[in-house]
Amino acid sequence: MPDDPNPLEDPFICSLCGARSAGPGDCSTHSEEPLVDLRDQEVRLMLDKADWRRQRRRQVLLGLLVILGVSPFIVVSLVVGIGSDGVLARVAVWVGRIAVLVAIGSAAWLIRRFPAPRLLPPKLRP
Ligand SMILES: [Zn+2]
Repeated sequence: MPDDPNPLEDPFICSLCGARSAGPGDCSTHSEEPLVDLRDQEVRLMLDKADWRRQRRRQVLLGLLVILGVSPFIVVSLVVGIGSDGVLARVAVWVGRIAVLVAIGSAAWLIRRFPAPRLLPPKLRP
């Protein structure tokens, strides 16, 4: 959502999709969803909590995707590392370490690159 200069110009917002309106009513996309008033502090807190929950869900999802992506390398490195000794075991341990580092770096990059959209305008955040 772009940073609007006057966040209260259209004070009514859909808590599902962020659609804005100058007056009360239902969301044009979600017909059963009444718009909430951004001028109400309780509404702002509720939207901020919902934004936070969406962000946490996105982080968990991206983390699970990364774990799924690197888990074959970790499993193979463990199996090979335990079942062998010498150079092969050391290589397997390093493959596992690199896979863990790639997972951590990828998850951090993905979370920064693909943040969950926030409905509450920046100027109204607590
Ligand atoms: Zn909506």
